[in-house]
Amino acid sequence: MILIGRSSWVPPRQWKLWSLPPAALGYVIAVDLVAVLITVLAARSSLLGGPISDAEWTAFAVLAVASTLHLESARGIERRRELAANTSPHTNLKCLWVFASLLLLPLSLVIPLVVLAYVYSWFRVYGRKIAHRKVFSTATYILASAAAAAVLRAGGLVSEPRLPTDFWSLLVVLAAGATWWLVNYALVIGAILLSSPDATARDALGELSHQLVICAGLGLGIAIAAVQSSYPWVVPVLMVTVLALHRDLLLPQYQRAAGVDVKTGLATPSYWANAVPAELARAESLRSSVGLLMLDLDKFKEINDTYGHPAGDRALKAVGESVRAEVRQGDLVARVGGDELAVLLPGASESEVLEIAERIRDRLSTLAVSVDTAANRTAVISGVPASFGAAVYPDVAGTMDQLVLAADNALLTAKRGGRNQIVSARPNPPLDRADHQVGDH
Ligand code: GH3
Ligand code: MG
Repeated sequence: MILIGRSSWVPPRQWKLWSLPPAALGYVIAVDLVAVLITVLAARSSLLGGPISDAEWTAFAVLAVASTLHLESARGIERRRELAANTSPHTNLKCLWVFASLLLLPLSLVIPLVVLAYVYSWFRVYGRKIAHRKVFSTATYILASAAAAAVLRAGGLVSEPRLPTDFWSLLVVLAAGATWWLVNYALVIGAILLSSPDATARDALGELSHQLVICAGLGLGIAIAAVQSSYPWVVPVLMVTVLALHRDLLLPQYQRAAGVDVKTGLATPSYWANAVPAELARAESLRSSVGLLMLDLDKFKEINDTYGHPAGDRALKAVGESVRAEVRQGDLVARVGGDELAVLLPGASESEVLEIAERIRDRLSTLAVSVDTAANRTAVISGVPASFGAAVYPDVAGTMDQLVLAADNALLTAKRGGRNQIVSARPNPPLDRADHQVGDH
């Protein structure tokens, strides 16, 4: 069942799933089907292997309640992190309960726990939309769990609890954890690369620190399983630890999320305003330079008027991705106004700034963005040109305000000069009269 908005039923033919590129669609459906197959096989082998014991049902109930309480109390943080994740893999601590259950329960009970966690988050955390992504995430968890269960079995840990009791079993449990992580990560990266052709490998891999969340989750899962099998009454105490850790562990990402513009994934103006003085101070102590590029999309209102505002949003996002793809990792790209971006290029000289601006200008003027129009049709916006103003610290200005003003004046000159061009601010005399036009196309 796929729902969007509050509770509106969306007929299968209008599911967002069908808007995926064909390769991504085939991939997602194949992974979902394999997960269904694994579920059927696990249920069958559980039926053949005799009834589930009372102890297993109790362990299942404890894990289900703990996992739900955890999801509910970390709801606010998780929602913001998911928004900030964009085209990078979204990691979370759900794996903690899944991995604990893998050590304590048969696969036929692990799968309902995974499904329960995702259905709960779908309703309470993510909002009822883009259901196909959540179904896919559930499927990757099921595949990862089946692979980890196979590793546990192959390592001789057949009956529950499958906990480390000597060096060999420790290795087996760690190998199962690594397998779980790798299978889930690889499946998610595959989907991101196939469904967002514009996403770079760097975007798809995400940040290493996000993967540490998974490592923390798997480690805590082993600890919870050990405590639950010998001292079940310690589990509520550990729950408090998990919740406290959740806040602490994710705080840096939470703060970073606050600096991310939701629409484009670029830095926000407030993040930008904090970062620029720090970069200028660093450049001063290193006797280095900092390049600044301001760019404003040309006649962007016409794109909104022609294709609709959501299509304009999609184009903005594609512009952000294109700009990021043309600069280095240490450069900062921010959305400082509706259709205005700023790029900070530490260490860049005037000629380098102009070279980068030229590359971005080229890329934007040939950018193709496929969008859904109001009439439920697909159209392609070809070319989202922009005008650029460039200024370099300390050549042109000695403070952030002067630097931004100089780049803004240059941008204005580019607009007045006919748009889709780059203008570099000159040091002396007064900036607006001495602007130097570089490209005229
Ligand atoms: P110019 O070449 O002079 O820059 O023309 P322009 O149409 O781009 O005008 P201007 O930069 O003054 O206005 C920005 C327009 O960008 C206004 C608005 O229609 C659009 N815009 C601003 N923010 C958003 C947004 O978040 N989403 C969308 N879709 N459009 C936006
Ligand atoms: Mg504009």
